[in-house]
Amino acid sequence: MNEIISYFSSIPSSHRSLILVGGITLFWVIENTFPLFQMQYKKWHHAGINIFFTITTIIVNFILAFILIKTASWTTENNFGILQWLPEMPIWLYTIIGLLLLDLVGAYLVHFIEHKIKFLWRFHIIHHTDTWIDTTTANRHHPGESVIRFLFTALGVLIAGSPMWMVFLYQSLSVIFSQFNHANISLPDKLDFFLSYFIVSPNMHKVHHHYVLPYTDSNYGNIFSVWDRLFGTYITLSKDKLVYGVDTHMLPEENNQLKNLLQIPFQKSRSAKNTKNQ
Ligand SMILES: [Zn+2]
Ligand SMILES: [Zn+2]
Repeated sequence: MNEIISYFSSIPSSHRSLILVGGITLFWVIENTFPLFQMQYKKWHHAGINIFFTITTIIVNFILAFILIKTASWTTENNFGILQWLPEMPIWLYTIIGLLLLDLVGAYLVHFIEHKIKFLWRFHIIHHTDTWIDTTTANRHHPGESVIRFLFTALGVLIAGSPMWMVFLYQSLSVIFSQFNHANISLPDKLDFFLSYFIVSPNMHKVHHHYVLPYTDSNYGNIFSVWDRLFGTYITLSKDKLVYGVDTHMLPEENNQLKNLLQIPFQKSRSAKNTKNQ
């Protein structure tokens, strides 16, 4: 455990990039071997769009990183935040509680809010417009959304009172888990279902990418599935019924063109065609 802490205390940027690139490569190979769907799509064109958004996400996070570093050191120096207020405990328990809190505020909460506040949904919708979900979809976030998510990550660090090594550990796990649950891979149903009791499994997150409500507004989790189960946002849908995308943007010229995707937040907003009653 101490090795993990010291590694993540000073993880070089090159290693963080390696985790991202290594993860995409690994899941891309697995997708080709055990695909969930045989998707007829231009894989490189699709990857090009999503990798563009991954790079803009990295740039936003890099520029704003100092805010996280300052927040983490302020909380530990001033004994602020839930982890600082809890009694002494074994380091593994401290780590799990910290990761759960970062996941709640920096991932579940922001994701839930992005679905409920129209202005934020304008940016988040780019993630949902993807009609071919694969491992590259994981970081398909409009730069505006990357900023929103970053601010909630900082809020999570403040509330949790987590040290910086834990933030780096969380972010590295988040990259891998997100690539895993977006990957176009088919796990045995029973294994996927078993995993969904602990983590956001591939089938669980795919339901979030079904094109109509109420499925779009469900399964907001990132790493841990407990938050969806606790707050009643967990929904299942058989994978043979899945249709990826979002009903307001199903035209390829809208959801598969980089220029349009960048412009969507500034276009006239559209309401979902399907109601929650369907
Ligand atoms: Zn979403
Ligand atoms: Zn997703």
